[in-house]
Amino acid sequence: MNKEVAMELRRRLQIKGALRFENITKPLGLTVKEVDSDGFDGALVRRSSGIGGRILVKRGIRELGRKRFTTAHEIGHYLLHKDSDSMSCGAKEIENWTNFEINPEHAADEFASELLLPSAEMKGLIGTQWPSLKLVSDLAAEFEASLTATIRKYCDVATHSCAGVWVQESRVVWFSPSTSFPHWVKVGEELDAGLLDCNIPVEEMVEVRASEWIPAFSEEKEATLLQGCVRMPTYKGCLVLLWANRPLKHRTAEDELLEELDTDRFDSFRRERWPGKK
Ligand SMILES: [Zn+2]
Repeated sequence: MNKEVAMELRRRLQIKGALRFENITKPLGLTVKEVDSDGFDGALVRRSSGIGGRILVKRGIRELGRKRFTTAHEIGHYLLHKDSDSMSCGAKEIENWTNFEINPEHAADEFASELLLPSAEMKGLIGTQWPSLKLVSDLAAEFEASLTATIRKYCDVATHSCAGVWVQESRVVWFSPSTSFPHWVKVGEELDAGLLDCNIPVEEMVEVRASEWIPAFSEEKEATLLQGCVRMPTYKGCLVLLWANRPLKHRTAEDELLEELDTDRFDSFRRERWPGKK
């Protein structure tokens, strides 16, 4: 629903590619102003008539993508939450994907995500390319969006089995799986420090044990994932892309039986070679 409102708005105003805010704020009767603020990152003050209003964005937000997401989030409140005269949203409210879905902040985030990163256009640009953080960062540049917002939308539309993971102080804060990634990542658990070295180029993915990320595979030594990661020191965080390039499967009793049978065959083969040995 929230996503559809953004889709419809882009469609009606014939917006393609990276959003120029004035193309949306003007028709809606909104103005955007950067202000010095200690209390909020973004705020919306609706006119008393209910139509039009002013969006305030904290000047001190360092990252352009984050600033754009904040503006889009406030436009979301304007269109979705018409009963509120004013909204004031802190850093913890905006792009906080641990909120419940019924939370108005979550609704405004979903709207903002689709307004800045249109699903259909993203799919077209991704085509058949393999998952990598390079691809995610190219998409972020294309739509002038933050890496965190882009990785979420990427996994939302990706056909590969992958997940975006946001880690702060060695703990998973959220993970965002694609529809074909049916696994639960260790949210809240402390990760092995070596796992987040991130000393690889963004084009590359390294192989890691699936058990490092997915508790359900703790007994499976052979199950692996491909991992790309990038440090984001401003947020004391690390953004990770996981790709199950081979389906992750648990070894079944049947697999174990087949292995035993293999061993038997090897024994009988030896007996054939050395008939004297009984
Ligand atoms: Zn908000």
